[in-house]
Amino acid sequence: MRKKIVAGNWKMNKTLSEGLKLVDEIVSSSENNSVLKIIAPPFIHLASIADKLKGKEDFEVAAQNCHQVESGAFTGEVSAEMIASTGAKYIIIGHSERRIYFGENNSLLAQKVLMALANNVIPIFCLGENAADRAANIHLDVVKQQMKESLFNLLPADFSKVIVAYEPVWAIGTGVTATTHQAQGMHNFIRSEINKKYGKMVSEESILLYGGSVNAENAKELFACLDVDGGLIGGASLKAGEFGAIVNSF
Ligand code: PEP
Repeated sequence: MRKKIVAGNWKMNKTLSEGLKLVDEIVSSSENNSVLKIIAPPFIHLASIADKLKGKEDFEVAAQNCHQVESGAFTGEVSAEMIASTGAKYIIIGHSERRIYFGENNSLLAQKVLMALANNVIPIFCLGENAADRAANIHLDVVKQQMKESLFNLLPADFSKVIVAYEPVWAIGTGVTATTHQAQGMHNFIRSEINKKYGKMVSEESILLYGGSVNAENAKELFACLDVDGGLIGGASLKAGEFGAIVNSF
């Protein structure tokens, strides 16, 4: 039975006091204990928020990025080891904003995935096509390439720890959500590619999240899709009531 997960990516939002208040509100509004809630605040709040959530088994904390090497002269960067030391158990890797604004490509992301795993932190690996790719009907090829170049170098035991988040770029922060047909279609494709590479058992246990303008109104139908195991939520994760309603829609 695959774990149900709702993860909130706060991006570059919230001061420390605002973030701590939001966490309290999210804990109160997220009544469904069978869903794992993952909060991804900015790096600087990780330790405080991890401390606040200590002992709550249905809550975990994630970073939004990590550097690809262990340590060294990389001013301003944060390593996977440092992230692990805060109590965070997950790292979002390959978000489209990192790919677009910071030039992160598939091979760099492969290194980040390895670094997270080497530090016992679970990657939430984001992939997805942009609007032009979908218009050109090459969205399956694009996603296949992203998996091949960033994930399929992993040994089965390592791959099986990774969470994959399908986030079509055209749906992120736009208010345009993938239809259930589009989301299920891509998730089914991703699972079948995992099956080809790692076999049935790994593919059936792989957790696949959908991200892209998920809100309290559309979450229920998206989460009802056979191959959708939860969501990666951006904008709606900054409002406790909305995030809680998404969690409770499982
Ligand atoms: C995201 O940034 O990962 C995301 C899914 O954003 P939003 O929910 O705002 O579309």
